Amino acid sequence: MNSKSPVRVFKFGGASVKDATAVKNVASILRRFAGEKIVVVVSAMGKTTNALEVIHEHRFHGQDYKSEVQALKSFHLNIAKELGLSEENQLKALYEQFEKFDEVLAGPCSKQFDMEYDQLVCHGELFSTALVHSFLHEEKISSYWLDVRQIIRTDNRFRDARINWQHSTANIGQVEQAFEKKDIVIVQGFIGSTSVGLSTTLGREGSDFTAAIMAYLLDAKDVTIWKDVPGMLNADPKWFKDTVKLDKISFREAIELAYYGASVIHPKTIKPLQNKNIPLYIKSFIHPESEGSVIQESMDHDHLVPSYIFKANQVLISITPKDFSFIVEDNLKEIFDLLSQLGIRISLMENSAISFSICTDKDPYKLEHLFEALRHSYQVRYNEELTLITVRHWDDKTLQMLTAGKEVLLEQRSRQTVRMVVR
Ligand code: ASP
Ligand code: MG
Repeated sequence: MNSKSPVRVFKFGGASVKDATAVKNVASILRRFAGEKIVVVVSAMGKTTNALEVIHEHRFHGQDYKSEVQALKSFHLNIAKELGLSEENQLKALYEQFEKFDEVLAGPCSKQFDMEYDQLVCHGELFSTALVHSFLHEEKISSYWLDVRQIIRTDNRFRDARINWQHSTANIGQVEQAFEKKDIVIVQGFIGSTSVGLSTTLGREGSDFTAAIMAYLLDAKDVTIWKDVPGMLNADPKWFKDTVKLDKISFREAIELAYYGASVIHPKTIKPLQNKNIPLYIKSFIHPESEGSVIQESMDHDHLVPSYIFKANQVLISITPKDFSFIVEDNLKEIFDLLSQLGIRISLMENSAISFSICTDKDPYKLEHLFEALRHSYQVRYNEELTLITVRHWDDKTLQMLTAGKEVLLEQRSRQTVRMVVR
Protein backbone atom coordinates (compact mmCIF):
# COMPACT_ATOMS: atom_id res chain seq x y z
CA MET A 1 0.00 0.00 0.00
CA ASN A 2 1.55 3.32 -0.98
CA SER A 3 0.08 6.66 0.24
CA LYS A 4 -2.94 6.33 2.56
CA SER A 5 -5.05 3.21 2.39
CA PRO A 6 -8.79 3.75 2.59
CA VAL A 7 -8.92 1.76 5.86
CA ARG A 8 -10.39 3.47 8.90
CA VAL A 9 -9.96 2.43 12.52
CA PHE A 10 -12.81 2.69 15.05
CA LYS A 11 -12.38 2.15 18.74
CA PHE A 12 -15.25 1.28 21.05
CA GLY A 13 -14.38 1.45 24.76
CA GLY A 14 -15.86 -0.44 27.70
CA ALA A 15 -18.74 2.04 28.16
CA SER A 16 -19.79 1.71 24.52
CA VAL A 17 -20.29 -2.06 24.93
CA LYS A 18 -21.43 -2.15 28.54
CA ASP A 19 -24.84 -3.75 27.90
CA ALA A 20 -27.11 -5.03 25.13
CA THR A 21 -28.40 -1.56 24.22
CA ALA A 22 -24.86 -0.30 23.87
CA VAL A 23 -23.85 -3.21 21.64
CA LYS A 24 -26.90 -2.59 19.42
CA ASN A 25 -25.78 1.01 19.16
CA VAL A 26 -22.33 -0.12 17.96
CA ALA A 27 -24.05 -2.09 15.19
CA SER A 28 -26.12 0.94 14.22
CA ILE A 29 -22.99 3.11 14.03
CA LEU A 30 -21.24 0.55 11.83
CA ARG A 31 -24.27 0.48 9.54
CA ARG A 32 -23.76 4.18 8.84
CA PHE A 33 -20.39 3.30 7.31
CA ALA A 34 -21.53 0.40 5.15
CA GLY A 35 -19.13 -0.34 2.30
CA GLU A 36 -16.07 1.12 4.04
CA LYS A 37 -13.12 -0.93 5.27
CA ILE A 38 -12.99 -0.59 9.03
CA VAL A 39 -10.83 -2.11 11.75
CA VAL A 40 -13.02 -2.21 14.85
CA VAL A 41 -11.06 -2.24 18.11
CA VAL A 42 -13.20 -3.25 21.08
CA SER A 43 -12.47 -3.02 24.84
CA ALA A 44 -13.74 -5.37 27.51
CA MET A 45 -17.43 -4.84 28.36
CA GLY A 46 -18.22 -2.36 31.13
CA LYS A 47 -16.20 -3.11 34.27
CA THR A 48 -14.97 -6.52 33.10
CA THR A 49 -11.27 -5.66 33.43
CA ASN A 50 -11.78 -4.70 37.08
CA ALA A 51 -13.60 -7.99 37.68
CA LEU A 52 -10.76 -9.92 36.05
CA GLU A 53 -8.24 -8.10 38.24
CA VAL A 54 -10.10 -9.34 41.31
CA ILE A 55 -10.14 -12.92 39.99
CA HIS A 56 -6.41 -12.69 39.32
CA GLU A 57 -5.69 -11.40 42.85
CA HIS A 58 -7.70 -14.22 44.41
CA ARG A 59 -6.10 -16.87 42.26
CA PHE A 60 -2.63 -15.53 42.86
CA HIS A 61 -3.13 -15.60 46.62
CA GLY A 62 -4.69 -19.05 46.58
CA GLN A 63 -8.17 -17.77 47.46
CA ASP A 64 -11.47 -18.92 46.03
CA TYR A 65 -12.72 -17.10 42.95
CA LYS A 66 -15.41 -19.41 41.57
CA SER A 67 -18.34 -17.09 42.25
CA GLU A 68 -16.54 -14.17 40.57
CA VAL A 69 -15.88 -16.28 37.47
CA GLN A 70 -19.50 -17.37 37.43
CA ALA A 71 -20.70 -13.77 37.74
CA LEU A 72 -18.47 -12.65 34.89
CA LYS A 73 -19.71 -15.39 32.58
CA SER A 74 -23.34 -14.69 33.51
CA PHE A 75 -22.80 -11.00 32.79
CA HIS A 76 -21.72 -11.82 29.23
CA LEU A 77 -24.37 -14.51 28.74
CA ASN A 78 -27.11 -12.15 29.88
CA ILE A 79 -26.01 -9.53 27.36
CA ALA A 80 -25.95 -12.25 24.70
CA LYS A 81 -29.47 -13.29 25.66
CA GLU A 82 -30.75 -9.72 25.56
CA LEU A 83 -29.21 -9.42 22.12
CA GLY A 84 -31.26 -12.44 21.06
CA LEU A 85 -28.27 -14.78 20.91
CA SER A 86 -29.24 -18.01 22.59
CA GLU A 87 -28.82 -20.89 20.18
CA GLU A 88 -25.70 -22.95 20.50
CA ASN A 89 -24.11 -21.80 17.25
CA GLN A 90 -24.77 -18.14 18.09
CA LEU A 91 -22.86 -18.54 21.35
CA LYS A 92 -20.12 -20.72 19.96
CA ALA A 93 -17.47 -17.98 19.74
CA LEU A 94 -18.12 -16.82 23.30
CA TYR A 95 -18.09 -20.36 24.70
CA GLU A 96 -14.82 -21.01 22.95
CA GLN A 97 -13.31 -18.04 24.76
CA PHE A 98 -14.80 -19.19 28.08
CA GLU A 99 -13.08 -22.54 27.55
CA LYS A 100 -9.71 -20.94 26.93
CA PHE A 101 -10.20 -18.81 30.03
CA ASP A 102 -11.04 -21.92 32.08
CA GLU A 103 -7.89 -23.59 30.79
CA VAL A 104 -5.77 -20.72 32.11
CA LEU A 105 -7.56 -20.83 35.45
CA ALA A 106 -7.04 -24.58 35.72
CA GLY A 107 -3.32 -24.31 34.93
CA PRO A 108 -0.61 -23.75 37.51
CA CYS A 109 -0.09 -20.20 38.84
CA SER A 110 3.53 -19.08 39.04
CA LYS A 111 4.93 -16.49 41.42
CA GLN A 112 5.12 -13.88 38.65
CA PHE A 113 2.26 -11.57 39.52
CA ASP A 114 2.34 -9.37 36.42
CA MET A 115 2.84 -12.25 34.01
CA GLU A 116 -0.10 -14.19 35.50
CA TYR A 117 -2.20 -11.01 35.41
CA ASP A 118 -1.77 -10.68 31.66
CA GLN A 119 -2.58 -14.35 30.96
CA LEU A 120 -5.94 -13.85 32.72
CA VAL A 121 -6.93 -10.24 32.23
CA CYS A 122 -6.51 -10.41 28.44
CA HIS A 123 -9.72 -12.47 28.28
CA GLY A 124 -12.06 -9.51 28.80
CA GLU A 125 -11.38 -8.26 25.29
CA LEU A 126 -11.57 -11.80 23.88
CA PHE A 127 -15.07 -12.22 25.40
CA SER A 128 -16.33 -8.84 24.19
CA THR A 129 -15.09 -9.20 20.63
CA ALA A 130 -16.50 -12.74 20.36
CA LEU A 131 -19.88 -11.46 21.47
CA VAL A 132 -19.90 -8.37 19.27
CA HIS A 133 -18.80 -10.45 16.30
CA SER A 134 -21.63 -12.97 16.79
CA PHE A 135 -24.18 -10.20 17.16
CA LEU A 136 -23.01 -8.41 14.01
CA HIS A 137 -23.34 -11.70 12.15
CA GLU A 138 -27.00 -11.97 13.26
CA GLU A 139 -27.51 -8.37 12.15
CA LYS A 140 -26.15 -9.23 8.69
CA ILE A 141 -23.14 -6.98 9.20
CA SER A 142 -20.48 -9.42 8.24
CA SER A 143 -17.17 -9.13 9.98
CA TYR A 144 -13.92 -11.00 10.38
CA TRP A 145 -12.76 -11.76 13.92
CA LEU A 146 -9.02 -11.70 14.50
CA ASP A 147 -7.00 -12.47 17.60
CA VAL A 148 -4.92 -9.29 17.80
CA ARG A 149 -2.24 -11.19 19.73
CA GLN A 150 -1.22 -12.68 16.38
CA ILE A 151 -0.47 -9.17 15.15
CA ILE A 152 0.69 -6.98 18.00
CA ARG A 153 4.05 -8.31 19.17
CA THR A 154 5.44 -6.89 22.40
CA ASP A 155 8.31 -7.40 24.79
CA ASN A 156 7.68 -9.16 28.09
CA ARG A 157 7.23 -6.16 30.35
CA PHE A 158 3.90 -7.56 31.53
CA ARG A 159 1.04 -5.13 32.30
CA ASP A 160 2.89 -2.33 30.50
CA ALA A 161 4.25 -4.08 27.42
CA ARG A 162 6.24 -2.19 24.81
CA ILE A 163 5.44 -2.68 21.13
CA ASN A 164 7.87 -4.43 18.84
CA TRP A 165 7.07 -2.36 15.76
CA GLN A 166 9.18 -4.41 13.39
CA HIS A 167 7.54 -7.72 14.19
CA SER A 168 4.08 -6.21 14.38
CA THR A 169 4.57 -4.66 10.93
CA ALA A 170 5.53 -8.09 9.59
CA ASN A 171 2.24 -9.50 10.93
CA ILE A 172 -0.12 -6.86 9.55
CA GLY A 173 -0.64 -8.78 6.30
CA GLN A 174 -3.20 -10.87 8.18
CA VAL A 175 -5.47 -7.86 8.48
CA GLU A 176 -5.02 -7.00 4.82
CA GLN A 177 -5.97 -10.57 3.91
CA ALA A 178 -9.03 -10.40 6.17
CA PHE A 179 -10.12 -7.25 4.31
CA GLU A 180 -10.12 -9.24 1.08
CA LYS A 181 -12.95 -11.29 2.61
CA LYS A 182 -14.86 -8.78 4.76
CA ASP A 183 -15.28 -5.03 5.16
CA ILE A 184 -15.08 -5.12 8.94
CA VAL A 185 -12.23 -6.65 10.91
CA ILE A 186 -12.83 -6.94 14.65
CA VAL A 187 -9.87 -7.01 17.02
CA GLN A 188 -9.31 -6.73 20.76
CA GLY A 189 -7.93 -3.58 22.32
CA PHE A 190 -5.35 -3.57 25.11
CA ILE A 191 -3.63 -6.91 24.42
CA GLY A 192 -0.66 -8.33 22.54
CA SER A 193 1.75 -11.22 22.82
CA THR A 194 5.44 -11.94 23.29
CA SER A 195 7.75 -13.80 20.94
CA VAL A 196 7.07 -17.03 22.86
CA GLY A 197 3.30 -16.57 22.67
CA LEU A 198 2.54 -15.33 26.17
CA SER A 199 -0.26 -12.77 26.38
CA THR A 200 0.60 -9.22 27.36
CA THR A 201 -1.41 -6.09 28.15
CA LEU A 202 -0.54 -2.51 27.24
CA GLY A 203 -1.56 -0.80 30.49
CA ARG A 204 -5.05 0.08 31.77
CA GLU A 205 -7.16 2.00 29.26
CA GLY A 206 -4.77 0.79 26.58
CA SER A 207 -7.35 0.14 23.84
CA ASP A 208 -6.97 3.67 22.46
CA PHE A 209 -3.31 2.85 21.96
CA THR A 210 -4.26 -0.36 20.13
CA ALA A 211 -6.36 1.70 17.73
CA ALA A 212 -3.37 3.96 17.05
CA ILE A 213 -1.07 0.96 16.57
CA MET A 214 -3.42 -0.64 14.05
CA ALA A 215 -3.78 2.67 12.20
CA TYR A 216 -0.02 3.11 12.10
CA LEU A 217 0.60 -0.43 10.83
CA LEU A 218 -2.10 -0.13 8.16
CA ASP A 219 -1.35 3.47 7.16
CA ALA A 220 -5.00 4.12 7.87
CA LYS A 221 -6.95 7.12 6.63
CA ASP A 222 -8.13 8.09 10.12
CA VAL A 223 -9.00 6.84 13.61
CA THR A 224 -12.25 7.45 15.46
CA ILE A 225 -12.61 6.91 19.19
CA TRP A 226 -16.32 6.63 20.04
CA LYS A 227 -16.99 7.97 23.52
CA ASP A 228 -19.77 8.98 25.90
CA VAL A 229 -18.70 12.64 25.64
CA PRO A 230 -19.28 14.87 22.59
CA GLY A 231 -15.54 15.17 21.86
CA MET A 232 -12.41 16.49 23.49
CA LEU A 233 -13.53 18.98 26.12
CA ASN A 234 -11.56 21.87 27.60
CA ALA A 235 -12.11 20.54 31.13
CA ASP A 236 -13.30 17.41 32.87
CA PRO A 237 -17.12 17.45 32.91
CA LYS A 238 -16.93 15.74 36.32
CA TRP A 239 -15.57 18.99 37.75
CA PHE A 240 -17.15 21.64 35.54
CA LYS A 241 -20.60 22.28 34.16
CA ASP A 242 -19.67 24.72 31.44
CA THR A 243 -17.21 22.77 29.40
CA VAL A 244 -16.42 23.72 25.82
CA LYS A 245 -15.66 21.27 23.05
CA LEU A 246 -12.28 21.68 21.34
CA ASP A 247 -13.27 21.27 17.69
CA LYS A 248 -9.78 20.98 16.33
CA ILE A 249 -6.44 20.71 18.08
CA SER A 250 -2.94 19.68 17.12
CA PHE A 251 -1.19 16.39 17.92
CA ARG A 252 1.30 18.45 19.87
CA GLU A 253 -1.42 20.06 22.01
CA ALA A 254 -3.11 16.71 22.63
CA ILE A 255 0.18 15.26 23.86
CA GLU A 256 0.65 18.24 26.20
CA LEU A 257 -2.89 17.90 27.57
CA ALA A 258 -2.48 14.16 28.12
CA TYR A 259 0.86 14.79 29.84
CA TYR A 260 -0.68 17.28 32.26
CA GLY A 261 -3.34 14.74 33.17
CA ALA A 262 -6.30 15.14 30.79
CA SER A 263 -7.91 11.73 30.76
CA VAL A 264 -9.82 11.69 27.47
CA ILE A 265 -7.33 9.63 25.53
CA HIS A 266 -4.56 7.29 26.56
CA PRO A 267 -1.30 9.30 26.43
CA LYS A 268 0.52 6.78 24.20
CA THR A 269 -2.13 7.08 21.48
CA ILE A 270 -1.02 10.29 19.80
CA LYS A 271 2.60 9.67 18.88
CA PRO A 272 2.12 6.85 16.31
CA LEU A 273 -0.65 8.88 14.66
CA GLN A 274 1.43 12.04 14.58
CA ASN A 275 4.34 10.14 13.02
CA LYS A 276 2.17 9.15 10.09
CA ASN A 277 -0.05 12.21 10.12
CA ILE A 278 -3.25 10.20 10.67
CA PRO A 279 -6.07 12.37 12.08
CA LEU A 280 -7.82 11.21 15.25
CA TYR A 281 -11.54 11.91 15.67
CA ILE A 282 -13.21 11.80 19.07
CA LYS A 283 -16.93 11.39 18.61
CA SER A 284 -20.02 10.68 20.67
CA PHE A 285 -21.50 7.21 20.32
CA ILE A 286 -24.76 8.72 21.57
CA HIS A 287 -24.86 11.36 18.81
CA PRO A 288 -22.79 9.77 16.04
CA GLU A 289 -23.99 12.36 13.54
CA SER A 290 -22.36 15.21 15.52
CA GLU A 291 -19.00 16.66 14.58
CA GLY A 292 -16.90 15.69 17.58
CA SER A 293 -13.27 16.80 17.81
CA VAL A 294 -10.35 16.19 15.54
CA ILE A 295 -6.72 15.97 16.55
CA GLN A 296 -4.47 16.66 13.58
CA GLU A 297 -1.30 18.39 12.47
CA SER A 298 -2.24 22.08 12.32
CA MET A 299 -1.67 24.17 15.47
CA ASP A 300 -3.80 27.08 14.22
CA HIS A 301 -6.72 26.39 16.54
CA ASP A 302 -4.87 25.44 19.72
CA HIS A 303 -4.99 28.84 21.33
CA LEU A 304 -8.71 29.49 20.83
CA VAL A 305 -10.05 28.02 24.08
CA PRO A 306 -8.27 27.82 27.46
CA SER A 307 -8.14 24.21 28.72
CA TYR A 308 -7.77 23.35 32.38
CA ILE A 309 -6.74 20.14 34.03
CA PHE A 310 -7.08 19.31 37.70
CA LYS A 311 -4.91 16.84 39.55
CA ALA A 312 -6.27 16.23 43.02
CA ASN A 313 -4.60 14.62 46.01
CA GLN A 314 -1.25 16.30 45.50
CA VAL A 315 1.49 16.81 48.07
CA LEU A 316 3.90 19.75 47.91
CA ILE A 317 7.24 18.85 49.46
CA SER A 318 10.05 21.29 50.17
CA ILE A 319 13.53 19.95 50.80
CA THR A 320 16.16 22.15 52.49
CA PRO A 321 19.77 21.22 53.38
CA LYS A 322 20.03 21.10 57.18
CA ASP A 323 23.24 23.12 57.18
CA PHE A 324 21.54 25.95 55.24
CA SER A 325 23.96 25.51 52.36
CA PHE A 326 22.74 26.26 48.85
CA ILE A 327 20.89 23.63 46.84
CA VAL A 328 23.43 22.63 44.20
CA GLU A 329 23.69 19.96 41.52
CA ASP A 330 25.02 17.37 43.98
CA ASN A 331 21.90 17.70 46.14
CA LEU A 332 19.64 17.54 43.13
CA LYS A 333 21.37 14.43 41.88
CA GLU A 334 20.88 12.72 45.24
CA ILE A 335 17.21 13.74 45.37
CA PHE A 336 16.47 12.71 41.78
CA ASP A 337 18.17 9.34 42.29
CA LEU A 338 15.92 8.71 45.27
CA LEU A 339 12.78 9.77 43.40
CA SER A 340 13.67 7.52 40.52
CA GLN A 341 14.46 4.54 42.77
CA LEU A 342 11.16 4.94 44.60
CA GLY A 343 9.18 5.46 41.39
CA ILE A 344 7.88 8.85 42.56
CA ARG A 345 6.66 10.92 39.64
CA ILE A 346 7.13 14.67 39.82
CA SER A 347 4.13 16.65 38.60
CA LEU A 348 5.88 20.01 39.11
CA MET A 349 9.18 21.21 40.59
CA GLU A 350 10.92 24.44 41.59
CA ASN A 351 14.18 25.36 43.22
CA SER A 352 15.38 28.39 45.15
CA ALA A 353 18.76 29.09 46.69
CA ILE A 354 18.24 26.93 49.73
CA SER A 355 15.34 24.66 48.92
CA PHE A 356 13.96 22.36 46.28
CA SER A 357 10.21 21.80 46.00
CA ILE A 358 8.28 19.09 44.24
CA CYS A 359 4.62 18.39 43.78
CA THR A 360 3.63 14.74 43.48
CA ASP A 361 0.72 12.31 43.94
CA LYS A 362 0.02 11.40 47.53
CA ASP A 363 1.37 7.90 47.96
CA PRO A 364 1.98 7.50 51.71
CA TYR A 365 4.10 4.38 51.34
CA LYS A 366 6.54 5.88 48.84
CA LEU A 367 6.66 9.24 50.60
CA GLU A 368 7.50 7.66 53.93
CA HIS A 369 10.52 6.00 52.32
CA LEU A 370 11.54 9.26 50.68
CA PHE A 371 11.36 11.23 53.93
CA GLU A 372 13.27 8.51 55.75
CA ALA A 373 16.08 8.59 53.17
CA LEU A 374 16.32 12.40 53.18
CA ARG A 375 16.19 12.85 56.92
CA HIS A 376 19.93 12.68 57.63
CA SER A 377 20.90 15.77 55.65
CA TYR A 378 17.69 17.63 54.81
CA GLN A 379 14.83 19.28 56.53
CA VAL A 380 11.63 18.19 54.80
CA ARG A 381 8.32 20.01 55.04
CA TYR A 382 5.13 19.23 53.18
CA ASN A 383 1.50 20.20 52.61
CA GLU A 384 -1.11 17.67 51.57
CA GLU A 385 -4.67 17.67 50.20
CA LEU A 386 -3.65 20.06 47.43
CA THR A 387 -4.76 20.35 43.84
CA LEU A 388 -2.49 21.02 40.90
CA ILE A 389 -4.25 23.10 38.26
CA THR A 390 -2.78 23.36 34.77
CA VAL A 391 -4.22 25.95 32.40
CA ARG A 392 -3.24 25.86 28.73
CA HIS A 393 -3.77 29.03 26.66
CA TRP A 394 -4.70 30.88 29.80
CA ASP A 395 -6.30 34.28 30.16
CA ASP A 396 -6.83 36.37 33.29
CA LYS A 397 -10.53 35.67 33.45
CA THR A 398 -9.97 31.89 33.52
CA LEU A 399 -7.27 32.18 36.18
CA GLN A 400 -9.53 34.30 38.38
CA MET A 401 -12.39 31.86 37.99
CA LEU A 402 -10.20 28.89 38.86
CA THR A 403 -8.50 30.42 41.91
CA ALA A 404 -11.52 32.19 43.45
CA GLY A 405 -11.65 31.35 47.16
CA LYS A 406 -8.47 29.30 46.97
CA GLU A 407 -5.00 29.82 48.35
CA VAL A 408 -2.24 29.53 45.74
CA LEU A 409 0.87 27.94 47.28
CA LEU A 410 3.02 27.89 44.17
CA GLU A 411 2.63 29.20 40.63
CA GLN A 412 4.56 28.83 37.39
CA ARG A 413 3.76 30.81 34.26
CA SER A 414 4.92 30.52 30.70
CA ARG A 415 3.45 31.98 27.54
CA GLN A 416 1.10 29.02 26.97
CA THR A 417 0.77 27.42 30.36
CA VAL A 418 0.03 28.38 33.95
CA ARG A 419 0.43 25.77 36.67
CA MET A 420 -0.76 26.40 40.21
CA VAL A 421 -0.71 24.34 43.36
CA VAL A 422 -3.79 25.37 45.33
CA ARG A 423 -5.63 24.56 48.51
N1 ASP B 1 -10.22 -3.05 29.17
C1 ASP B 1 -9.04 -2.34 29.48
C2 ASP B 1 -9.26 -1.45 30.69
O1 ASP B 1 -10.39 -1.38 31.18
C3 ASP B 1 -8.51 -1.53 28.34
C4 ASP B 1 -9.42 -0.39 27.89
O2 ASP B 1 -10.60 -0.35 28.22
O3 ASP B 1 -8.93 0.48 27.18
O4 ASP B 1 -8.34 -0.86 31.17
MG1 MG C 1 -12.05 1.11 29.39
